[in-house]
Amino acid sequence: MTQDIQGKVVVITGGSSGLGEATARHLAAHGATVVLGARRMDRLQTIVDDIQASGGTAMAQKTDVTRQADVQALVDTAVSTYGKIDVLLNNAGLMQQSPLEKLKVDEWDNMIDINIKGTLYGVAAALPHMKSQKFGHVINVSSVAGHKVTPAGTVYCATKYAVRAISEGFRQEVKDYNLRSTIISPGAIDTELPSHITDQESSEAIGGFYESAAIPADSFARTVYFAITQPEDVDINEILYRPTAQP
Ligand code: NDP
Repeated sequence: MTQDIQGKVVVITGGSSGLGEATARHLAAHGATVVLGARRMDRLQTIVDDIQASGGTAMAQKTDVTRQADVQALVDTAVSTYGKIDVLLNNAGLMQQSPLEKLKVDEWDNMIDINIKGTLYGVAAALPHMKSQKFGHVINVSSVAGHKVTPAGTVYCATKYAVRAISEGFRQEVKDYNLRSTIISPGAIDTELPSHITDQESSEAIGGFYESAAIPADSFARTVYFAITQPEDVDINEILYRPTAQP
């Protein structure tokens, strides 16, 4: 028997595009209340307006996940507005592929700050609320890149391996509080993700691959829905999926 998603409060970082946007729209259409954080408020507001116009419940707050105070404020706003947090989707992320020898140290820093520290800041913000509620679900977005290191993907892959380690550690540590922890590791999904690559060779290689193989973002939204709607005592630990065309 699955759980009803109606009225569940779901906080989504990186809700302004791609996987976060698709998930916000999908969950809201099924009755969840969604609280969206990202830096581009105009994009967030359009999504919130659309959801509300369809009869759903949504709000947005400007959030930079590299700032702990922003992530704390996003989660605290969800709890003060709606009384609880059922799910945190740690989704905000950045992929900037390049060979290590290009020494794009600023890009390494950005990926570490957004993908790893942003995820940890989400945990820091949500865990105290979830502990006192004695329920909650943290879903962290890793990747096929969190299972397999590829040339020019070293730092991005390292951050996605780290996300899996954080999720598994969280899972083991929160047994006493009845919390759930899920890693979702997608393959190539058609979003803005590859557009941030500045290394031309990597951009062309990955852009070409995405054009030929990437699948729509609603595939991800459905995996989130699946994990959330399992019975309370079922913890889907990880979902790894990819386009059939992806090696
Ligand atoms: P997009 O580039 O479309 O979305 C990235 C999201 O992250 C945006 O909403 C962006 O919002 C947000 N974001 C980036 N930096 C920050 C920041 N500092 N603070 C807050 N939000 C931030 O890509 P995807 O939707 O594809 O990416 C979502 C997640 O999925 C990422 O973690 C990515 O690594 C992962 N993933 C994606 C795959 C794919 O093929 N698309 C495959 C595997 C994993 P804004 O710019 O408005 O702040």
